[in-house]
Amino acid sequence: MYISGQWREAISGKRFEVTNPATSEVIDTVADGGEADTLAAIHAADAAAAGWAGRTAFERSEILHKAYDLMVQRKEHLARTMTMEQGKPLRAARIEVQYAADFLRWFAEEAKRVSGQVLPAPRQDQRFLVLRQPVGVVGAITPWNYPVSMLTRKMGPALAAGCTVVLKPAEATPLCAIETYKVLIDAGVPPGVINLVTAADPQPVGRLLVEDPRVRKLTFTGSTAVGRRLAAGAGQHMKRISLELGGHAPFIVFKDADPVHAAKGAAAVKFLNAGQACISPNRMFVHQDAHAPFTDELVSRVIRLRAGNGLADGIGVGPLIDERALAKVDAQVKDALSKGAQLLCGGHRMMDNGLDAGTFYSPTVLSGVTTDMLIYREETFGPIAAVVTYDDDDDVIGMANDTNYGLAAYVYTNNTAQAMRAFEALKFGIVGINDINPTAAAAPFGGVKDSGLGREGGSQGIDEYLDVKLGGFAI
Ligand code: ADP
Repeated sequence: MYISGQWREAISGKRFEVTNPATSEVIDTVADGGEADTLAAIHAADAAAAGWAGRTAFERSEILHKAYDLMVQRKEHLARTMTMEQGKPLRAARIEVQYAADFLRWFAEEAKRVSGQVLPAPRQDQRFLVLRQPVGVVGAITPWNYPVSMLTRKMGPALAAGCTVVLKPAEATPLCAIETYKVLIDAGVPPGVINLVTAADPQPVGRLLVEDPRVRKLTFTGSTAVGRRLAAGAGQHMKRISLELGGHAPFIVFKDADPVHAAKGAAAVKFLNAGQACISPNRMFVHQDAHAPFTDELVSRVIRLRAGNGLADGIGVGPLIDERALAKVDAQVKDALSKGAQLLCGGHRMMDNGLDAGTFYSPTVLSGVTTDMLIYREETFGPIAAVVTYDDDDDVIGMANDTNYGLAAYVYTNNTAQAMRAFEALKFGIVGINDINPTAAAAPFGGVKDSGLGREGGSQGIDEYLDVKLGGFAI
């Protein structure tokens, strides 16, 4: 753990194991923090808050620029750590590290764009000034699926705004958090400004971040169930909160779309990170005329994906994060098959060629998915492409919106009017139109409905870390 400018063991002396999901080997142990460690971290962040907020925006920007450079220099090391700890193929890990670094650079620039306002006042002897000030200590809780970029997407804007941070990474991926912290520390972030509490049990740490009055804002990426609990606590303690939660992305292939092009996109985006992404397409709505060419192309690509240890060359899909994730995916597939879905490829845990040591599930395509199946309703978080056939373009937007989630949606069409209508009508925070990667540091990322609150990245991302203060001056 890193508290008050020092790397420390837990006060209890306990440590917990970190395993490689491709091999089940223990790769390291890390400090197992609890309440006392969290309190020390909050204390440190609180003590450092005024000093950090008092630095000029230019000083904070310089440090973030330096962090960008260091992260890019250490890309290979960070990527290898990520592949060993989280499982994604090395190529994908390198792309994530660059994406993570991009947030540092973006918010290094945004730090210098935080300005206030002078407003017209109703009285002649009055002046109105608006300041935007850092909210103070930020409690951040991050997930394992993007274990470097989810940190910089929160810490970049928090640091740029002048906030201090206590961060608890996911218990599966503390090593990525430690390496990310080393980047920020080496870039010159002062002691106390960023604090890291690693813990096997998230609950005591999470509870203190919610309850301690010195923490003024919570930022969380993870499941909707945990997000809901944190939001309820934040409401009780009147804290600001931003939440990036689950998704259930529709992927619509309209009648007029090029089905082969759409299938190439689907194959590329669905199996990224073995489907363990909140913006992963979860329901592929394909017009009946496009169904055969779409599924033929999709299956031909999916069966060529090689699963394995992400450190090896040519691996397209890594393991799932743990046995629980595997069981959930398998249950969804079995449920769909029992209710009449067709298995076009995959559909089982992978046990050959040494894969039984890890938690691998074969890349799978199901067709004939219907509304009564679990996979139609639940987020999958695994390498399963679930194809739903529809027959009327007028109905499909309603089908896509028929979910409590509202993060990402994808649309394939060659008709600009159709594209615009779908873009406007889809109740999702992010819509990719013939585009499978509608994300970047410069773009606002976030959802509506059960997918969360607030936006990360873009010009909006820093607002989550700033309070607005009005000054009325009688002169
Ligand atoms: P997943 O099920 O995908 O692992 P979680 O929402 O459980 O998603 O995990 C996301 C993050 O939330 C992780 O850092 C995890 O440790 C943390 N977390 C899980 N449960 C709690 C909790 N009760 N309080 C605070 N944080 C939690």
